[in-house]
Amino acid sequence: MQFTELGLSEKVLSAVTAAGYAEPTPIQAEAIPHALQRRDVLGIAQTGTGKTASFVLPMLTMMEKGRARARMPRTLIIEPTRELAAQVEEAFTVLGKNQRINVALLIGGLSFEEQDRKLDRGVDVLIATPGRLLDHFERGKLLLTGVEILVIDEADRMLDMGFIPDIERICKLLPFTRQTLFFSATMPPEITRLTEQFLQNPVRIEV
Ligand code: AMP
Repeated sequence: MQFTELGLSEKVLSAVTAAGYAEPTPIQAEAIPHALQRRDVLGIAQTGTGKTASFVLPMLTMMEKGRARARMPRTLIIEPTRELAAQVEEAFTVLGKNQRINVALLIGGLSFEEQDRKLDRGVDVLIATPGRLLDHFERGKLLLTGVEILVIDEADRMLDMGFIPDIERICKLLPFTRQTLFFSATMPPEITRLTEQFLQNPVRIEV
């Protein structure tokens, strides 16, 4: 399988080449075409399998089409830790280098004022940890009604960290009509229940 066979845009393909990726990893080869068809995806994959690019690349391609309404975020990525959130931001910088995409990182340790200013300027992609995202929402600064694509990453780690109630609250703040891409390394019963609640007819991919 080649990257050119997956349905990605020219701008994204050129960034993939510049990043030095020769060919898609198994999760990328399987998930990207379904994500581009706007299907919900349940990816059972560990870190190191290339799962980040398996959602970043189709998101970048889909964001080339259409524009956000009134500077509202169109995509939301939930990560269990600041470090993972920062890694995803880095992937957007590298793989989105040929596009004008505004990314905001909403994680603990950064000032609310600075993050608010960024939100006021308009953001396409939000990358957040659950608690901080809800803090912003409660401050009344964050509109989530424009979110078209939700990514829940490392769901089993979120379970270990006690974040599942937060994830449930966040999902209920989002439009019902959206695409959800959900990743977990393992599938304990609590995570299966979450996928049944928040994914619609997902494609299940296990690598
Ligand atoms: P991840 O599993 O998303 O944490 O990715 C692990 C590492 O693999 C990251 O450093 C990526 O930059 C790199 N990577 C992702 N996809 C590819 C690919 N298709 N070819 C080579 N490296 C990749």
